[in-house]
Amino acid sequence: MNAPLPAEACGIDLVRERGQRAVFCGLTGIVWLHRKIQDAFFLVVGSRTCAHLIQSAAGVMIFAEPRFATAILDERDLAGIADAEAELDTAVERLVARRPDIRLLFLVGSCPSEVIKLDLTRAAFRLSRRLAPVRVLTYSGSGIETTFTEGEDACLAALVPELPEAEAGDGALLVAGALGDVVEDQFARLFADLGIPVRFLPGRRAEAMPAVRPGMPYLLAQPFLAGTARGLDGRGLRHLPAPFPLGAEGTTGWLQAAAEAFGVAPERFAAATQAGRRRAETALAPHRAALAGRRIFFFPDSQLEVPLARFLARELGAGIVEVGTPYLHRGLLAEEIARLPVGTRVVEGQSLDDQMDRARAARPDLAICGLGLANPLEAEGLATKWSIELLFTPVQGYEQAGDLAELFARPLRRRALLEV
Ligand code: SF4
Repeated sequence: MNAPLPAEACGIDLVRERGQRAVFCGLTGIVWLHRKIQDAFFLVVGSRTCAHLIQSAAGVMIFAEPRFATAILDERDLAGIADAEAELDTAVERLVARRPDIRLLFLVGSCPSEVIKLDLTRAAFRLSRRLAPVRVLTYSGSGIETTFTEGEDACLAALVPELPEAEAGDGALLVAGALGDVVEDQFARLFADLGIPVRFLPGRRAEAMPAVRPGMPYLLAQPFLAGTARGLDGRGLRHLPAPFPLGAEGTTGWLQAAAEAFGVAPERFAAATQAGRRRAETALAPHRAALAGRRIFFFPDSQLEVPLARFLARELGAGIVEVGTPYLHRGLLAEEIARLPVGTRVVEGQSLDDQMDRARAARPDLAICGLGLANPLEAEGLATKWSIELLFTPVQGYEQAGDLAELFARPLRRRALLEV
């Protein structure tokens, strides 16, 4: 991983805030991860609150046999009266017996499992041995330890030590970060046109996780994968610094980083990317009219805020009032920070009341925020966009650039109609 840049050197106005936060916990990632790894099961070891969160976040996607559930810790477990470990073992054994299609089971830690210090690492080890060939892994989605997208990071980081070793001389690129299948297929075609063999983490099935080896170059597809990157670095892989594949410019920069690492000739790069880039620019043009000069305020939520601000400012001409982000991984985001307009205010962390006061004073045209803040802000006359939609919608790559811009333009159009 490249070294972090000092904020002063990047030309941004970086502020750190501490205080009350309004961010989802890492359990939310299950909603997109269970669709990505098709034979995995996510068992949250948590409370009824955790069950409600997952149920309502994923409610619209529930089908006959969902691949996530909650093993509820009740008062007896929390009071230490019941043997929570034995109960968990029984619940997992029953689940695996009923669902022989499960190949990979994640025990997902929560605030309650952390508070009673339930040792899920030991439980995963114990159950893996007992239930082989089903693999049991664990990670934390607890609101004490994680915010929103950090759940995906923790999940992928749990997979990294399990990845098979690639053969010596294997010359593939690794792309880390859950992408919609349609996006992944498009990127696979682009890398094939560039002559770069590529593998994706996570694989779509437990048995199809990518093989890795020391020296293997990797690109991150998402900016919130600091723990995963640390794990990959620990296995000797080599991070390729790049902007993230959002918008035409970000996608080109991201592909370019791989092309340079693999020595792809400029003519071949241009031939492989030109048409996609042109289609993206054409798709963005009508949205530029709606977004140019509009003032955008990001509340910290998904950790996508910095790349999105870069996209909105540079490709759509929007003005950025403030970029809130739960964490600023300066090493991973160096290429994004360098592209932000000079002087952009970036606020790492959150002090909710102060941030609400600043948003009220600034009266932005659009606030990008979590679900909990959208209604109060709308009630105060501000247009909002739920940041969670940016994770549920395929937004990466050339073909999705127009859809990404549309996500920001739509609330402005709706507000204009309401005002009429
Ligand atoms: Fe709430 Fe914690 Fe459960 Fe998340 S993990 S739903 S923050 S109790």
